[in-house]
Amino acid sequence: MTVQALVVDDSKAMRMILSRSLRELGFEVAEAPDGKQALAALQNGGAKDLVLIDWNMPEMNGLELVQAVRADPRFAETRLVMVTTESELDHVDKALSAGANEYVMKPFTRDIIRDKLALLGFSVG
Ligand SMILES: [Mg+2]
Repeated sequence: MTVQALVVDDSKAMRMILSRSLRELGFEVAEAPDGKQALAALQNGGAKDLVLIDWNMPEMNGLELVQAVRADPRFAETRLVMVTTESELDHVDKALSAGANEYVMKPFTRDIIRDKLALLGFSVG
């Protein structure tokens, strides 16, 4: 069964990079430009298997999105991965406490993403 991923980032370039990596790893990918639209997409489209989440976004930031997703039992099995810069690393604990499963630091390679997803139990190409 195809793994369904959602890439949430207000940077179109970053969404493209992440989406391409995930498609190359065999995932089916949707995109959202902020937390609010990501949450709406999840609520309308059923549970996604994986959500990659940027921190700084308009409307609803990454931490708020994690909190909102974790407050909804329908998404209990959804894996949440924060995509962070080194300067934001101090905040990662906050996201993990809020229910994020893993984080990836920028700049990343496709191999780093693959390893993190393998760690979360996804079968990756
Ligand atoms: Mg951003």
